[in-house]
Amino acid sequence: MSQDPYELLGVDRDADADALKKAYRKLARQYHPDVNPEPEAQERFKEISRAYEVLSDPQKRAAYDRGGDPFGGGAAGFGQGPGFSFTDIMDAFFGGAGGAAAGGGRGPRSRERRGQDALIRIEVELAEAAFGVTRELMVDTAVRCTACGGEGAAPGSHAIPCETCHGQGEVAQVQRSFLGEIRTLRPCAACRGFGTIIPDPCRECSGDGRVRARRTLTVKIPGGVDTGTRVQLAGEGEVGPGGGPAGDLYVEIHVAPHEVFVRNGSDLHCTVTLPMTAAALGTVLTLPTLEADVVGDEEPTTDVETSFELDIRPGTQSGSEQVLRGRGVPGLRGGRGDLVVTVIVETPGRLDARQEELLRELAAIRDEEKPSGQVHASSKSMFGRLRDAFNQH
Ligand SMILES: [Zn+2]
Ligand SMILES: [Zn+2]
Repeated sequence: MSQDPYELLGVDRDADADALKKAYRKLARQYHPDVNPEPEAQERFKEISRAYEVLSDPQKRAAYDRGGDPFGGGAAGFGQGPGFSFTDIMDAFFGGAGGAAAGGGRGPRSRERRGQDALIRIEVELAEAAFGVTRELMVDTAVRCTACGGEGAAPGSHAIPCETCHGQGEVAQVQRSFLGEIRTLRPCAACRGFGTIIPDPCRECSGDGRVRARRTLTVKIPGGVDTGTRVQLAGEGEVGPGGGPAGDLYVEIHVAPHEVFVRNGSDLHCTVTLPMTAAALGTVLTLPTLEADVVGDEEPTTDVETSFELDIRPGTQSGSEQVLRGRGVPGLRGGRGDLVVTVIVETPGRLDARQEELLRELAAIRDEEKPSGQVHASSKSMFGRLRDAFNQH
């Protein structure tokens, strides 16, 4: 032994069994000749294995610690000594308790598997998103093959046990290594791990048990959905291979822009433009509701409000907002947002002689012929002024 086994494994002299095992596994993964083709790797692997052999055996470790040569006394055989087990090497590579010996036994895998989930995107109008809608959808999907009932075998025939693996779905593979034989279980290539073979595949589905088809679905979209909301339809996705259960279908909502209302969560926003005179004198406006979209061209029924009156107070400022509680979008879990109406006051652009005369007269009465104007430091004070103006009413 040319080197100190503690150094070889890179552990402290008081390392416990766990620390030793960890250090050895780490190095074994690095230097095992199966994973490291470098010529020195094999020698290095032998060295660390011997070091581990010594330190994992309390008697040998004690002898070494007392200054003895642990490899004296003819213990030249590698991996033969008591206390050293192949399990540790197997564990290093296969990670399981007992390694390859206990790693098998999974048995054949089923041909039946759950189908994939599917996603389709649909566009709905704002009112449909708000109040719900029922849609007919065409979906291209995988459905169970009716010819073979999903089994994949031609009608009248059936799958038979695989002769290569005797129905086990896996075969033992023995690899010779300088350490000895390593036995691992691998999926059977002849049957792809199924344990059975379909000698005469169904011609409709090529043995897959399912075929592509176009289906029509009726989807009920609840009120309150928004762009990005996914409605889950359990079991309406693709049928799985081998007639396995279907996945789910997700319908992703995209809400189309509305010509009047802009949505912000459960609130709706809209803007009304008013002549200067109406803003000054006050008026009553009739605005459409979102419900009006649902009614459409049909004769309005008594319980659906298609319009409402918005009271514009005299002296309404441009940019002021009116919040109308409960006129927004219903939430998925109940409740309803607000409608926020922003008023924009339009200054008349072109005046005829009479109009100009009247406005000049008004300015004179209001002592506004030479207004000084009000200079504001920031937009904040501007908003504050608007809010104050709004709150006065
Ligand atoms: Zn079929
Ligand atoms: Zn097989």
